[in-house]
Amino acid sequence: MTDGETLEKLFEAAALGAHRFRSTVGDRLQRPELSYREMRRLFDGPTPEHGSPADEVIRSLAEKAERGLQMAAGPRFFGWVIGASHPVGAAADMLTSAWGQNCGNHEAAPAGSAAEEIAARWLLDILDLPRECSVGFVTGGTAANLVGLAAARSAVLRRVGWDVEKDGLFGAPPIQVIIGDDAHTTVFLALQVLGLGHDRVVRIPTDRDGQMSSSGFRKAMAACDGRAIAVLQAGQLNTGAFDPFAEVIPLAREMGAWVHVDGAFGLWARACPARASLAAGVDQADSWAVDGHKWLQTPYDTGYAIVRDADAHRRAMTAAASYLPGEEGDDRDPSHLVLELSRRARGFATWAMIRHLGRQGIADMIERHCQIARRMAEMLAQEPGITVANEVVLNQAIISFGSDEDPAQQDALTDAVIRRLQREGVCFVGGARWRGRQVMRLSVISAATTEAEADRSVSAIVDAWRAERSGPARD
Ligand SMILES: *Cc1c(COP(=O)(O)O)cnc(C)c1O
Repeated sequence: MTDGETLEKLFEAAALGAHRFRSTVGDRLQRPELSYREMRRLFDGPTPEHGSPADEVIRSLAEKAERGLQMAAGPRFFGWVIGASHPVGAAADMLTSAWGQNCGNHEAAPAGSAAEEIAARWLLDILDLPRECSVGFVTGGTAANLVGLAAARSAVLRRVGWDVEKDGLFGAPPIQVIIGDDAHTTVFLALQVLGLGHDRVVRIPTDRDGQMSSSGFRKAMAACDGRAIAVLQAGQLNTGAFDPFAEVIPLAREMGAWVHVDGAFGLWARACPARASLAAGVDQADSWAVDGHKWLQTPYDTGYAIVRDADAHRRAMTAAASYLPGEEGDDRDPSHLVLELSRRARGFATWAMIRHLGRQGIADMIERHCQIARRMAEMLAQEPGITVANEVVLNQAIISFGSDEDPAQQDALTDAVIRRLQREGVCFVGGARWRGRQVMRLSVISAATTEAEADRSVSAIVDAWRAERSGPARD
């Protein structure tokens, strides 16, 4: 296993598999060839009693897995809000795995810790957030929300003399959580895990596109005593809507509340001069959750938990273990800012992506995606029977098919168009529920998506609609 020839064959097989897939992803059917159930059969077999040659295992894994892959890395993938695992990030990640670094602290992983620290500084610069913030490299938006809200919980209770890290929540003074009605489910999950309760919140009404009402927020703030955490959103999952940060954050701060922002993809608007005004004032918040594996195109999984009060961040996430080397001066141990001790060196892929795209390349990509989303929505809206159900301010568009005079039939037709498109595989689109209705959601967020690929996808969507409109919806 360790002899040079075997190693070379092994890593060559992996690199060849990666190259074969990435160089053909746009020409493939834009959906998995086999279903989840079929894939289960393909991977199945009796528990292996004896080993198999290394390169054979890898070749076999690649051959099997490729038949059940979503083409998220491709140019015509608009399902969910999933970045494209840019080849540069993927290559950095292959090295990260091969290097086998445990990025728990800077002695165990000097290079990994340093790359993370520098990438964190670049991130704050590009997102134009307070440069004194600390940044934890986590698995994604979910974990980033958890870390941000843990820091919030710590700071809010500390102000009233309660040490939540040491004494827990039993007997603690209550905290009020104020949150928009269209917040992402993972924020509620974080509240659940932190003992704040996913239903023990004040939900603020939102407008048609999911933007929080600022008068509703003002009322909720006035009714609490400041021992509060306000959770705002940059980029609603379906519509791309932003909460009115410039209006509500000063109110919350005046009351002494902590403001956390879930900006999993939307916070990247800050990196793009033409879109930055959508998130104006968001830099006044206390903590932010943002993903790398969405708009920055790093491979899965990467997210960033950004906290202004670095002490609260460390307090909430540092274990009281004595065997770990301490931080001295401006040393930064990655594990003090996240839940995990042992962890992969996520900073390498982020460092590589920012180096590759640069500030300008990131801004250009985001602007291109936003313009393509608008263009797709406008082209689709020209076809009779197709309705764009949101104002396309960012990269998200939601679409319905049929007449809104018959909501049940419109829902059925929308669902049928989605299923037809998924069968045909020219592009991949997904469905969502919005305001109790079925919609098709287009997320333009793949680095590989160009105007030409988007136009080809629009034609496929219009054709699918015409086919469904003219016949009874078939399965
Ligand atoms: C994707 C998303 C999340 C969750 O992030 P993960 O990276 O999937 O953990 C949270 N909030 C919003 C708005 C999102 O779009």
